[in-house]
Amino acid sequence: MDIHEYQAKQLVSKYGVNVPVGEVIYQPHEAITVTSWLDEENVVVKSQIHAGGRGKGGGIKVCKGQEQVISEVDRMIGMKLVTAQTGPNGKTVNRVYVEKAYDIDKELYFCITIDRETGGNTIIASKKGGIDIEKVAEENPEEIYKVRLGPGNKLLSHHVRTISYELGLKGSIARKAQKNFLALYEAFTSLDAALIEVNPLAVTKDRDIVALDCKASFDDNALYRQRQVAEMKDDNEYDPLELEAARHDLNYVKLDGNIGLMVNGAGLSMATMDIIKHYGGNAANFMDVAGAATPERVAAAFKLIYRDNDVKGILINIFGGMMRCNDIAQGLVNAAKEVGLNKPLVVRLEGTNVEMGMEILKNSGFPITPVPTMDQAAKEIVQLVKG
Ligand code: ADP
Ligand code: MG
Repeated sequence: MDIHEYQAKQLVSKYGVNVPVGEVIYQPHEAITVTSWLDEENVVVKSQIHAGGRGKGGGIKVCKGQEQVISEVDRMIGMKLVTAQTGPNGKTVNRVYVEKAYDIDKELYFCITIDRETGGNTIIASKKGGIDIEKVAEENPEEIYKVRLGPGNKLLSHHVRTISYELGLKGSIARKAQKNFLALYEAFTSLDAALIEVNPLAVTKDRDIVALDCKASFDDNALYRQRQVAEMKDDNEYDPLELEAARHDLNYVKLDGNIGLMVNGAGLSMATMDIIKHYGGNAANFMDVAGAATPERVAAAFKLIYRDNDVKGILINIFGGMMRCNDIAQGLVNAAKEVGLNKPLVVRLEGTNVEMGMEILKNSGFPITPVPTMDQAAKEIVQLVKG
């Protein structure tokens, strides 16, 4: 799960990370109260969306004085912000963060992430932080410094001393940076984070270290014990169908093709997507009904996929291991009745009572095509959708 920048800053500041003072606002008129407590100081207005690259996309603005703050807040709330990370459609800005602006001397990069190779945590740092960090990683990888910790290993003082040295920091600035690194690491492990990225971690003109941006992602499987984090979820950032699927414990991801898929098992789902692609089609979603494909779950998943307007046809590929295929087929026919099925539906079932299941589908009176193999199923649905 991802959260907004201001929420990430709220969380890490409790562990001692130095962040600017600020306030989140949802309505343009609130800008007036915020600027009154921020006084005549320079402030920065920052669009809050779950994507980076906001600075380059026009979603971050350093302002001089109250009038400019009010007009920037007004401009940003409700706008579609397109950045390198949002995709071409952009994301609607529903909240902005107004925070103290600092005079920046240097922008550093600091990130902690779970390392899939070592199974431990990896720290990534660079003295070339800021909005062009991707370019640095590509063109000057020697400017990126990494510390790989083994599983269960802690971040120790010698590690943070080396990191601050690699970032070219000295004296009191180095000590402040080290304190922030340790605090970020403590936040990372205590909160079951999968990623905490501070870019930029700024060295300010008045010789301080401040986290000016903060991105955090969390392990969904640990959210049950991270109440405070779980409550930060912003439903506006998710596809409504994905939210609905999560309520039914279905693994659903929206994609940009036009063939709706329902499969059981992640491996079979991926194989089905591949074979559709092979025959020239494109999946509109990834849907793994997982575990027990009960008639109820199959029906819920089916209705969800059906509601997606991009879906021009549906392919169901289910291996009924524990479940009987006739029950699954009956669940499907019931769901088809409920939605008044009028899009092509190709079904491939395998397992116990498969013949009975196929009979039920054939005699349903709906445009359902039962097929015996995955290969035929893919060919059939691609053709039906094209036709
Ligand atoms: P993004 O990474 O989405 O572009 P950032 O929060 O990193 O958003 O902001 C982009 C840039 O704006 C930063 O690299 C920094 O130069 C500037 N900036 C952001 N917050 C502040 C702040 N509080 N004070 C001064 N400059 C800031
Ligand atoms: Mg940033």
